[in-house]
Amino acid sequence: MADNPKKTKAPCSTCVGEKTHEVLFETQQQDEDWLYTYAMISCGGCETISMRVESRWHDGSVTHAYYPSPVSRQQPSWLQYMRLGLDAVEETIGDLIYEVYRAVDSKQYRLAAMGIRAALEQVMILKVGDNGTFKKNLDAFQQGGFISTIQREAMRATLDVGDAAMHRGYTPNEGDLRIALDVLDGVCAPIFGHGDEAKKMGKRVPPRKG
Ligand SMILES: [Zn+2]
Repeated sequence: MADNPKKTKAPCSTCVGEKTHEVLFETQQQDEDWLYTYAMISCGGCETISMRVESRWHDGSVTHAYYPSPVSRQQPSWLQYMRLGLDAVEETIGDLIYEVYRAVDSKQYRLAAMGIRAALEQVMILKVGDNGTFKKNLDAFQQGGFISTIQREAMRATLDVGDAAMHRGYTPNEGDLRIALDVLDGVCAPIFGHGDEAKKMGKRVPPRKG
């Protein structure tokens, strides 16, 4: 390691946001029009290692791509629970969501959006049965108390992104994906994870007096 390691600003998906990274290794490749610089970088905050590919066009314009993508995030604990195999249907949905996270890692945002849509649909059917249409499933899901009115609107918008990716050639951007993953997490966490944890916490908390 050099005495004065090269530093660079880059997004970190663990810390969330731009962080100073140390450049661990760097190499370049050139073709007729492009100069590519590949850098292995380590976050100064959390030491997560990622790769940056800088593509420099001969006119000097530059684009950066990061792997895993900056939208990536750690798998939620409820997902690990789903994939344990305690319930066959939950495990199948969990495996699908796991693939969504892998698609996000490799910037396959269309596949990720379609996967999120499919996962939300399967979660609804698991909990309230198949009522025939998307809207009816959403209605039953909300009436069953699984989501609030606010979450319903967010879920509707997320389903629309997946729908547009599937049927209308829409490519979701990083912002769309971030929101869609938040919505998926918001819907799934109370159903598949936090319920048991909350019950355990309830047993530890002393009861109210009077
Ligand atoms: Zn970090």
